[in-house]
Amino acid sequence: MAQIIDGKSLAMALRDEVAASVLEIQARGGRVRFAAVLVGDNPASQIYVRNKQRACEKAGIDFVLYTLPATCQYKELTDLIQRLSADSQIHGVLLQLPVPPEVIGNRLSEVLNLIDPRKDVDGLTITNLGLLAGGNNGLVACTAQGVLHAVQSVCPDLTGKKVVMIGRSQIVGRPTALLLTNQNATVTVCHRLTQNLGEHTRTADIIVVAAGSPQLLTAEMVKPGAIIIDVGINRLPDGRLVGDVDFENVAPQAAAITPVPGGIGPLTIAFLLKNIVAAYRLQNGL
Ligand code: ADP
Repeated sequence: MAQIIDGKSLAMALRDEVAASVLEIQARGGRVRFAAVLVGDNPASQIYVRNKQRACEKAGIDFVLYTLPATCQYKELTDLIQRLSADSQIHGVLLQLPVPPEVIGNRLSEVLNLIDPRKDVDGLTITNLGLLAGGNNGLVACTAQGVLHAVQSVCPDLTGKKVVMIGRSQIVGRPTALLLTNQNATVTVCHRLTQNLGEHTRTADIIVVAAGSPQLLTAEMVKPGAIIIDVGINRLPDGRLVGDVDFENVAPQAAAITPVPGGIGPLTIAFLLKNIVAAYRLQNGL
């Protein structure tokens, strides 16, 4: 049976580190402040934002929430993002995704790129994605860092490891593939149109799944002894929360595996806090 990678306790340790850094900043008279923007009333987004707020407050980071109705104008959103981005009292700015399509249309990256890259704690601006692609990390997407941390908790050196990344989204798959490549892993990115997914995964030392599809990764797709990282969060009709991995059947084959919930989720929040402190330091030349 695989080692279960306990994302919660790994995250706890990281959050303690962040809280200590914030105390240090406060001792020098500083104040770390973070702004989240939530558009519309998607219940899942409201829960995510509330979790971020709680985590910030526990770490001593001031959290300010700005909400806009789903009926707001595109310009109200861009004005707000620009104002927060220019406010020297605010060190991190996050736009909670998804933004209702009636507000944002196909202009999401235009809006995201209004965020000062030094405040871009989700790592989604062209500048931060470009730095990552160039091998020089700026602020890196929180989930990607969570994945790397989870892997390194059981396999510290990724040099030469064969990784299959399932999913190529801007927020998860792509930055994760780049971050692991920067750690000298050999990364294959698979997606919806990949043929014979199992052929790729069966040769992988490490499989990261972020596809939003329950039970996508099954036991026969996994090499015995592989490390399995499940980024998926899916709500089943019966209310259960599951990942993208058929955990029950894959776990006995794997060397290590992340659970859902309690795996990558808590690590993502911990790295958001780390990014906020990193953003504060960038802006204060520390
Ligand atoms: P997230 O933001 O969690 O990464 P998205 O829905 O934006 O989720 O992206 C899902 C990604 O997963 C896409 O890149 C898509 O191509 C990939 N994907 C979805 N279903 C499959 C599948 N059956 N096989 C391989 N990749 C898939």
